[in-house]
Amino acid sequence: MKAKNVKSTRTPIYRDAGFLLEDIPTMKKAFVDEINHPHNPDLYIYSRYRNPNVVEAEEHLSKIEGAKWALLTQSGQAALDVALSIFQKSNKPNKWLFFTEIYGGTNSFIDKVLVARRGIEAIRFAPNGDSYSLDAFEKALIETKPEIVFFEALSNPMLIALDGDAVIRIAKKHGAIAIVDNTFATPLLWKPLASGADLVFQSVTKYLSGHGNLSAGAVMGNDPELLKLAIEYRKWVGHMLSPDDAYRLIDMLKTFELRFSRHCQNAFAIANYLNNHPIIEKVLYPGLESHPTHNEANRLFNGKGFGGMVTFDIKGSNPKEKAQRCDLFIHQVANSIALVPTLGDADTILMPVEPVWGDKYPFPGMIRLSVGIEDQKELIKVIGNALDTLK
Ligand code: PLP
Repeated sequence: MKAKNVKSTRTPIYRDAGFLLEDIPTMKKAFVDEINHPHNPDLYIYSRYRNPNVVEAEEHLSKIEGAKWALLTQSGQAALDVALSIFQKSNKPNKWLFFTEIYGGTNSFIDKVLVARRGIEAIRFAPNGDSYSLDAFEKALIETKPEIVFFEALSNPMLIALDGDAVIRIAKKHGAIAIVDNTFATPLLWKPLASGADLVFQSVTKYLSGHGNLSAGAVMGNDPELLKLAIEYRKWVGHMLSPDDAYRLIDMLKTFELRFSRHCQNAFAIANYLNNHPIIEKVLYPGLESHPTHNEANRLFNGKGFGGMVTFDIKGSNPKEKAQRCDLFIHQVANSIALVPTLGDADTILMPVEPVWGDKYPFPGMIRLSVGIEDQKELIKVIGNALDTLK
């Protein structure tokens, strides 16, 4: 028997593949509305096009990011595909510029899909040592005239901060479209759309969902024409989030700001602790004055925090000893801090740098911590005890 008079503040989960359209005029109206009101339809047609739970989650997300619209996808990579593919044209050469210090999966997408399969010309812009030169960036724009500039304001795993406001300003000055992967900085530290970015995208799998148990991505923007293109592309390639995940995400988004502030506070405390520890060679955290891009992070994040990621290098007299100490540290903390290849979880997790990034970062004693929201003193105790065993 169907339950009667159930009242809830939450929208029930609509798992329907297709929605009820009572008659032909209603059906016709639904299809016309779909074009005229691409985001907030009066009528729903098919869940791959739009779904009430997904739209509700998108409304929450667009408020957090300060965007006029947000579209959710089933992963960050799917959102990346939407954000870039809508600009691809078969009758043009398509020349796009990518900063090199971006997520490895994005770099692979560029090489294996955009370049190898779709014939996009990808220009790479690399940092000059530990930081990017904005003058060199402007020069590269003048020389190569790309249609798109793509970057992350906080890189992985070296946590190079970039003056994203300036990058967007320069990109726009030279007529390029600016797209930002804002996964590491999150909208709490920086809102690229407010600085003139055309699109921002997020691996919602990370801090926005924040519990390491949901895979999702989002593309967000202000331009209604881009929304039309993005919603159409998502529909035809089927990059859609499930209603169940959207339902769960809505609750997770309610605690995002609380959680991320705590991630930042804990990371700041741990970075400072590690920075004063005798067995640590180097700590990479943009909140430390010693970080090569501390000034950029200060300018861009304006005192709101420096993120939840901390990378540190353990001392050793040679690479073998460093690797052994790295391995031992990982074993010592394993009950409290697990080796899990993701980030932005409520629990602190870690990844060794060299075994993951290989030759790009050949530092056998280096570990990337994704700092969680646990009790700060407890975390420092676990890390301190493990480091003590390495002496
Ligand atoms: N962007 C960044 C910065 C990431 O770290 C990741 C994943 O690690 C992605 C994008 C891809 O997101 P997803 O794994 O949700 O597809």
